[in-house]
Amino acid sequence: MARILIAGCGHGGVVAAWKLAAAGHTVTVYEKAARAALGHEEQDSFDAAAMQYAGIEIPAQYWAENNRLTFIPLDADAPALTMPKVEPSRTLTVDRRALIAHLVALAEGAGVEFVFGCEITAPLVLGNRVAGFVTAQGAQIVGDLVIDACGVHSPLRSQLPDFMLIERDPGPWAVLHAYRAYFRRDTQTRQPATPYNVYLTDDGTVGLSWVVTGEENVDILVARFSEVDASDLLHVMHEFRVRNPHLTMQQVRGGRTADIPVRQPLAVLVADGYAAVGDSAFMTYALKGSGIAYSLIAGTILAESVLADASGFYTTETLWEYERRFFREVGFDACRVAVMKNLLPYIKAQEVSDLFQRGLLTSEELAAFSGIKMTKLLTLANDKLRMLGEFPAFRAKLRNLIVWLGRFAVLEPSFPNKYTPEDAAKWAERYNEFFDSIRYRPTEDAPPAAEEQ
Ligand SMILES: Cc1cc2nc3c(=O)[nH]c(=O)nc-3n(C[C@H](O)[C@H](O)[C@H](O)COP(=O)(O)OP(=O)(O)OC[C@H]3O[C@@H](n4cnc5c(N)ncnc54)[C@H](O)[C@@H]3O)c2cc1C
Repeated sequence: MARILIAGCGHGGVVAAWKLAAAGHTVTVYEKAARAALGHEEQDSFDAAAMQYAGIEIPAQYWAENNRLTFIPLDADAPALTMPKVEPSRTLTVDRRALIAHLVALAEGAGVEFVFGCEITAPLVLGNRVAGFVTAQGAQIVGDLVIDACGVHSPLRSQLPDFMLIERDPGPWAVLHAYRAYFRRDTQTRQPATPYNVYLTDDGTVGLSWVVTGEENVDILVARFSEVDASDLLHVMHEFRVRNPHLTMQQVRGGRTADIPVRQPLAVLVADGYAAVGDSAFMTYALKGSGIAYSLIAGTILAESVLADASGFYTTETLWEYERRFFREVGFDACRVAVMKNLLPYIKAQEVSDLFQRGLLTSEELAAFSGIKMTKLLTLANDKLRMLGEFPAFRAKLRNLIVWLGRFAVLEPSFPNKYTPEDAAKWAERYNEFFDSIRYRPTEDAPPAAEEQ
């Protein structure tokens, strides 16, 4: 049986740890935080299907209604758009500290050992292989396989040698810095018409802000590609309070800033003796940064692929099965979302407000855009193109999206189902070049003119 090291207590890593220990491997998780500090002081939502995929029983209190987002446009007289009601609900809303504690308890029950308060600083690379890692205390910990679940700023991924083809950094415009806090709700004053409000602001920053009204508290998120500094926050909070008198200044929870990767997954997730999972491999839904579901699914696929490696060598070749299944089952869909996300910074809040005003974008269409079925998306985008004659700038941007999705459809079949160093290198080069060619360039007002394929 193998000695498997999990770096960081990320969700995908803990799920993989649980399954591998249950199959008899010796598994240890090394986590820099204390046990009591694990997770976030907040509630987040994700799709129940991911828990079912991972074979985790769903505690009854996790079930919640589907979040129906309302987009609040820039102009006060433009109508807000509320996403349609989807029944039955597939949404789980969980306290993040409780969720990770639940996963840790499952893993411990299967015999996984957890070492808390242990910061990993670098990978230990011997020849072609990741053989373990180094800790802040100077210890060198060696194992047969390292699973990197250290999150978006993983010190392992960021120090791997070039020949492993694994991108070290998320790159520009790929990480949202998110401030999140809960404030007491004043129930004696005017209440918002809808509970889950996303604000389209035009304050010179690019990002996402929401005001979510719960029974007792109001949940505030301010996410920016640039650092969220105190003056930016004060400004946004002031605007929120003007429009939401029920939002008091009494903070009850949260109040910290954390980073969320919003980009395509790594082109290559694995190397000899190494596999990245969850945020460390940039496995989030790039339009909003949800990553719990992908992490649970990827952790499950990873464990199954490791268990299928009867040789116990855990080379790039055998771990490629994890990479292949991840891309086939969720990764390519995640990529299409990442393509759409690349267009967002070019779209002005005023343009969206005007489209809402003219009824040219409906809530059903917004919901379809947030779905990821390629044919549906392309049909919708093409239909819209015809109707947008009076919005030539927006029309041109939408045309870019169609071309980008078309280019991605051409790229997708070049993914190698079987690993060879040459094919993997070719794939990584083409994939990274494509996403680099469509990434946001802040000095430009619009994406580069779309070329017909
Ligand atoms: C404000 C906010 C809101 C979000 N909302 C949602 C949501 O609604 N739905 C959703 O699905 N997702 C949401 N996400 C994203 C979600 O948190 C992540 O995608 C998800 O946690 C998967 O990440 P992970 O488990 O791989 O890594 P993480 O959750 O980042 O866990 C990494 C772990 O590794 C540890 N670690 C890091 N560095 C080291 C080191 N050097 N040595 C040892 N240990 C280390 C960390 O302490 C941490 O415990 C949100 C994120 C934020 C910040």
